[in-house]
Amino acid sequence: MHIGILSRNADLYSTKRLVEASEQRGHEVEVIDHLKCTIVMEQNKPSIIYHGRSLDYIDAIVPRIGASVTFYGSAVVRQFEMMKVFTAVESQALIRSRDKLRSLQILSRAGLGLPKTVFTNYSRDTDDILNAVGGAPVIIKLLEGTQGLGVVLADNRKSAASVIEAFHGLKARVIVQEFVKEAGGADIRAFVVDGQVVGAMKRQAKEGEFRSNLHRGGTSSIIKLSRKEKSTAVEAAKKMGLGVAGVDMLQSSRGPLILEVNSSPGLEGIEKATGVDVAGKIVEYLERNAGKKKGKIQKD
Ligand code: ADP
Ligand code: GLU
Repeated sequence: MHIGILSRNADLYSTKRLVEASEQRGHEVEVIDHLKCTIVMEQNKPSIIYHGRSLDYIDAIVPRIGASVTFYGSAVVRQFEMMKVFTAVESQALIRSRDKLRSLQILSRAGLGLPKTVFTNYSRDTDDILNAVGGAPVIIKLLEGTQGLGVVLADNRKSAASVIEAFHGLKARVIVQEFVKEAGGADIRAFVVDGQVVGAMKRQAKEGEFRSNLHRGGTSSIIKLSRKEKSTAVEAAKKMGLGVAGVDMLQSSRGPLILEVNSSPGLEGIEKATGVDVAGKIVEYLERNAGKKKGKIQKD
């Protein structure tokens, strides 16, 4: 089949591995820069023009859409869906996953474990906010942050109150979360493809740091998940509607607590930590579905 990898950069590890895994399985594959796709609409005949030609021969796509281009990227994915192309990540699921607040609401409604979290527009009553999450220390997170930037640990009520006020003063939207101390500066990433955990790693923050992001100097190692952790990750991906997902969880005394569900999870960390051919698992997922399960427009 013809596989399209939607990526802005053919040199990224994840993109290269998806190309390699597609070729290894005998498929035609091309990297498509979603920002250079032109979406054409006419009655009953959706199409996409790319470098002067129509992408009407593509059977399946793997979207690797960066957070800063979610709007246009998801429109391109939606157009492929209208063209009955199978996508590893559906447009609605992609959009949903990019809204941290909405994601937490969906996970909470599904009864999945998550750190107690508060969102408010009203910053005067920091006491109420802090009481709601059980008092200091608390984690304060910018809703738009990634890679651990914009995640602050406030040790006491006073500093928590001033950080919340400062963010609100800048018109930045934040969530306030209980600090899960038992996690010990570590989190776990479960990589889910088509309803199964295909690999998992533990990321440990460097000494003196609570954020385990690899970008913040964390280190990763393979981990065997408990049954509960596995089922939580699988259920989270399912509730978010994601065929491919990176589910980040904290290990706590009351079980796994979900931090976030990524819709374009990186392959490098997980493949290197686990030795699993994750790219191959994604391509096999396309093989099972392309042409069969017709692309659908998801209602939300
Ligand atoms: P980002 O999306 O920027 O990576 P996260 O919410 O994943 O933000 O937080 C970054 C890191 O901070 C996590 O990987 C975890 O190690 C740590 N962390 C986040 N929230 C909490 C929390 N409530 N309790 C303890 N540690 C946390
Ligand atoms: N793509 C990276 C990963 O999934 C970073 C995601 C993020 O910024 O949260 O590991």
